[in-house]
Amino acid sequence: MITSGETSDRELLGGIRKVIFDQLTIENRVCQMGLEVSRDYAGKELVVVGILKGAFIFTCDLVRQLSFSVEPDFMAVSCYNGATQVEEVKITLDLQKEITGKHVLVVEDIVDTGLTLNYLLRILRERKPASLEVCTLLDRPELRLIEIPIRYAGFQVDQEYLVGYGLDFRDHYRDLPFVATMNVESAKANSNS
Ligand code: 5GP
Repeated sequence: MITSGETSDRELLGGIRKVIFDQLTIENRVCQMGLEVSRDYAGKELVVVGILKGAFIFTCDLVRQLSFSVEPDFMAVSCYNGATQVEEVKITLDLQKEITGKHVLVVEDIVDTGLTLNYLLRILRERKPASLEVCTLLDRPELRLIEIPIRYAGFQVDQEYLVGYGLDFRDHYRDLPFVATMNVESAKANSNS
């Protein structure tokens, strides 16, 4: 297992700069969030919707912290290109089950501009769930372009690009057990060479 102090091929591939949330910090926060969600949805039937790929690890860890069993489902949307280049968000994988009349918790890796989630929430709202809430591991309010109602947020972050614990750079680094900042320019140079 790679920990924050070790060097690996992936780190050499390009510019992991600084671990900002280590494995234990993430585990503790996810545990707290699980307690909150368990308390708020006690006695209700909950559908947890993980947004692929970024939230796949967070979703799995979160549902294992709940005090009741849930129906997990997943959606995927077209990839992030930076706020100014988002022309259109597209669903590339839809839910397998109906959510009409059900309590739905959307689980995201990071809410940045809010454009992706705004689109997704609009689509999901049209399906008339009993309730629709958002749980994100990371929240970057500084770059928000559209207000998003976030019920649960793990950590607030600033503008630096992040990888690890599900978050990628060109599909690398998702499996790191921590969240780190990275030097995007150096990663680009290394992955192109
Ligand atoms: P938004 O539509 O809120 O601007 O973007 C949300 C999506 O962009 C996230 O689900 C995530 O996939 C991606 N994203 C935003 N910021 C970062 C970041 O710092 N690192 C990574 N790896 N992905 C990000």
